[in-house]
Amino acid sequence: MGPPIVIVGGGLAGLAAAVRLAEAGRSVVVLESKRKLGGRATSFVDPRTGEMLDNCQHVLMGSCTNLLDLYGRLGVLDMIEWHRTIWWANPPSDPDEMTPCRLPAPAHFTSSFLRMRFLRQEDKRAVARAMWRLIRLGREGRARWKGRSFGEFLDETRQTERARSHFWEPVVVSACNMPCSKTEASLAMYVFQAGFLQDSWSPVMGLSLRPLVELYDPAQQFIESRGGAMRLGVSALAISYDGRRVTGVVTDEGVVEASAVIASVPPDRLAKLCSTALVAADVRLKRLDEIAFSPILGVHLAFDAPIMDTPHLVLPGRDTQWLFRKQRDAQGRHQVHAVISAADSWVDLDEQTIVNRVMRDVHWALPRASGLQPAAFRAVKEKRATFAGVPGIDALRPTARPDGIRGGVENLLLAGDWCATGWPATMEGAVRSGYLAAAAVPSASGEPSGDALVPDVPAAPLARWLGL
Ligand SMILES: Cc1cc2nc3c(=O)[nH]c(=O)nc-3n(C[C@H](O)[C@H](O)[C@H](O)COP(=O)(O)OP(=O)(O)OC[C@H]3O[C@@H](n4cnc5c(N)ncnc54)[C@H](O)[C@@H]3O)c2cc1C
Repeated sequence: MGPPIVIVGGGLAGLAAAVRLAEAGRSVVVLESKRKLGGRATSFVDPRTGEMLDNCQHVLMGSCTNLLDLYGRLGVLDMIEWHRTIWWANPPSDPDEMTPCRLPAPAHFTSSFLRMRFLRQEDKRAVARAMWRLIRLGREGRARWKGRSFGEFLDETRQTERARSHFWEPVVVSACNMPCSKTEASLAMYVFQAGFLQDSWSPVMGLSLRPLVELYDPAQQFIESRGGAMRLGVSALAISYDGRRVTGVVTDEGVVEASAVIASVPPDRLAKLCSTALVAADVRLKRLDEIAFSPILGVHLAFDAPIMDTPHLVLPGRDTQWLFRKQRDAQGRHQVHAVISAADSWVDLDEQTIVNRVMRDVHWALPRASGLQPAAFRAVKEKRATFAGVPGIDALRPTARPDGIRGGVENLLLAGDWCATGWPATMEGAVRSGYLAAAAVPSASGEPSGDALVPDVPAAPLARWLGL
């Protein structure tokens, strides 16, 4: 038994890697600087109220095959509630519903789409034109858009102002955390092709019924019962490098020797762990500081009366993109969670101003809330919520292991939602990166071990025939 595989970071990427390696009988040590697991997708106790709150609502989709695989391994799948319908606010009328119908993909949203009232006929014609183009582009066509913005695609497909602001922006901003004009086209196209069009299960939306942190509690036992170690509250300070291989991790509690290191922290944190010699030896580490971030704002609101009739609501054309109806708090108050992605213009505002702005959108979307103000609130700003998926971002997203052509340090593996998975910054992207890193750890024979990813949801036959 040599030294263990050391995983830096107990977010979804690190946990995914640790679970797969522990299951394969490898010895792992997870170092996590916080005293809880889940990284950006976790919960905290609000010191004002003592309530357990999520950093922000986290949504998953049917297309998140690897995340669901991880939840399955951890035995927490029954904590996920599935919604086939997505509700779009259309006040003063009831919300429009987007539900897959019996028509085969990619026609499964046709009847909902025709019934939607928040888009006019010319907007719908424009959206349909772009969707058809996305179908016909297929995977190869998407690749040809690399390096351009999704806004250019919307220009080319002659989208109306309203189709942009009420349909494309809410979807792209929520999925990619960037406005259409600044999003790498192939990332946004992937969201529509793989997440909406190719089959009718992928767009089904999953929400955790429990605080997010509870989804990861079983990970500790899972790893420890297989001989691994979970060291919470331990910060990595540097990755040790002997000029050929990484040999361990220096932490605030001493050095942990390693046969391999999986670094699953965000790029700015990774840059702090790498010596000049290590950066010089591994091309994947040279451009970490070029990866920019985009903020997300989550606003927790508690009301004395119920205000939402649907479990969630998209707010087309508004600053607040989503509202989620949450469970009642300990005082029996009705909780609603508001999400603002790509929240650059909000991050310097004070909490009261944020809540006032969100309440304008709440009053617009929910006639029942008219005149009501929240009895309690808490705004959570995540300034570095996700990497900024700008045009050309793929050139900065590193692979789990060195690619063999440009060279690198064989036993240093990289993971995290920002690594090369083709996915936007999401829980699924993080888990994929963790699985890829686990499979890339050299085995005793020197070869990478095991299968990496769970397959994608297969495209429906008609969607495949049409080009998806
Ligand atoms: C507000 C918000 C809303 C979001 N909404 C969604 C959503 O609806 N759906 C979705 O799919 N995704 C969403 N995301 C994105 C999702 O949370 C991330 O993509 C995912 O959690 C990233 O996981 P990760 O493991 O790559 O990174 P992280 O979660 O950042 O994990 C890295 C871990 O490393 C630890 N760490 C850092 N430095 C050190 C060190 N020196 N030593 C030891 N440990 C260290 C950190 O504490 C952290 O736990 C959202 C993100 C935010 C912030």
